[in-house]
Amino acid sequence: MADLVHHDSTDAASLDALRARLRDLEALIARVPIPIAIARDPDCRDISANEALAALLRLPPSANVSLTPPPGEQPPYRIQRNGVDIPADELPMQYAIAHRTSVRNQIEIVLMDGTVRYVQNDVEPLFDARGEVYGCVSVVVDLTERKLAEDALRNADRRKDEFLATLSHELRNPLAPIRNALEIMRLAGGDTALVEHARAIMERQLLQLVRITDDLLDVSRITQNKLDLRRERIDLRTVLEGAVEATRPLIDAERHALALDLPAEPAWLDADFTRLAQAFANLLNNAAKYTEPGGRIRIGAVVNRAEATITVADNGIGIPPAMLPSIFDMFMQFEGSRDRAQGGLGLGLTLVKRLVELHGGTIQAHSDGPGHGSEFVVRLPLAAADEVHATSPRVRSKTKAHAGCRILIAEDNPDAAEMLRIMLTVMGQEVRVAWDGIQAVAMAKTFEPQIALLDIGMPRMDGYEAARRIRALLGTRVVLVALTGWGQDEDIRRAREAGFDRHLTKPAEPEAFEELIATCAVGDQTPPAEP
Ligand code: ADP
Repeated sequence: MADLVHHDSTDAASLDALRARLRDLEALIARVPIPIAIARDPDCRDISANEALAALLRLPPSANVSLTPPPGEQPPYRIQRNGVDIPADELPMQYAIAHRTSVRNQIEIVLMDGTVRYVQNDVEPLFDARGEVYGCVSVVVDLTERKLAEDALRNADRRKDEFLATLSHELRNPLAPIRNALEIMRLAGGDTALVEHARAIMERQLLQLVRITDDLLDVSRITQNKLDLRRERIDLRTVLEGAVEATRPLIDAERHALALDLPAEPAWLDADFTRLAQAFANLLNNAAKYTEPGGRIRIGAVVNRAEATITVADNGIGIPPAMLPSIFDMFMQFEGSRDRAQGGLGLGLTLVKRLVELHGGTIQAHSDGPGHGSEFVVRLPLAAADEVHATSPRVRSKTKAHAGCRILIAEDNPDAAEMLRIMLTVMGQEVRVAWDGIQAVAMAKTFEPQIALLDIGMPRMDGYEAARRIRALLGTRVVLVALTGWGQDEDIRRAREAGFDRHLTKPAEPEAFEELIATCAVGDQTPPAEP
């Protein structure tokens, strides 16, 4: 505008040109998609807004947007700094005029309906030819979307920090007794009862660690929609028995009385045995955790024509009514229960709900409030009655240990390899250890293992490549087992493509090794000597 004002030609043509340029400028200010306000009196009684600012303020374009309007008129909105109303003499436009200075600040515009817009606001005083301030111009940049996105990011970051804090707390919980149990074992000398006691504690705490890592993995699968069910025809009763078996150690440790009330007849489901047992084990686990020692836990099932209703109830600490609606949300934990000895990550019920829903079922939580116990009711559709023939119920029978099976371990973590070697040797097997893929292939040539347990991430040559080469050397005479910390469906698929027969996620249960050894004995020419 400066060079317009200083134009000193006074002839008519120049004046016309000047007026035309002023009109262009006014039109530009009116239409430009940047909110702008202009005051043309030093008291800012009357402030006009361009279209963009009127739209932001949700006012008609002709409105006076002054916050210091003539007496009798009300300001049509408010402005605040950090949630506090800005006093009249500090209002940016009024301040810029009074102090003959530009003003730059971030403020909040609060509309009549309470909506808040976060804006960057720049004000410049306007001077006349004599150098007197006659008004000002104010430009607004709407930062609301950015501010909300930043807030959301900060919240997510805070939740992540809280989650990591809970996670490390939950991991530390089982580690402390394990470390102490180890020390007890060192000091126990010949006291076998004490050693056995320490060992039982370590086993229980280890299961807790395994459960936490499994939950984490499952939740990551669920959030990526990668959880696949392996459905088969199974009897609900074996599922519930499996869940009880899995949680028995905790229930017994807390001296709870458990009542199991199953239907007399099989209740057939098309379901994933492991996943469903995991869901009910989670419910039982919670019942045991959130009930004072010596409590009562009941798990029962009733069946009608099309569905089974399974109830898991306890007489424990109960659930506050306010928490019931969100109890299945991720990371949801009731403050009062967070510090319990056998805490968790707040993932268990999220998993249970998703697993039940994947099976076409529903779950509801009931509680009459703190101190009145809790009840979880799961409804599952039964398998269509027509072709009901059972797959043999998966009751885990202890496999008889066979001896003398040649087993090759490839594992680059020396402690992990050594523990596995000792365990399998104690089970009576002939074991060799390789530290990487290349060594594993070389050993396979001379040792001709019947089972090869291969880690995937190894130096020099990974487990996939080692598996391919060992398969090429020994054909189907060897059972190839991937033994890894990577248990996603994608990892299992890759292992299968590399020619692995089995995939075990660390830490694998001793039973899994017993089963493997049993298959190796079956494949042997000479029947194994019974121990
Ligand atoms: P976690 O047990 O790891 O905290 P869950 O998702 O399994 O997470 O449970 C979420 C919360 O629900 C628990 O922290 C606890 O407050 C509450 N809760 C779950 N089961 C019960 C129960 N049987 N009795 C009382 N409160 C329970």
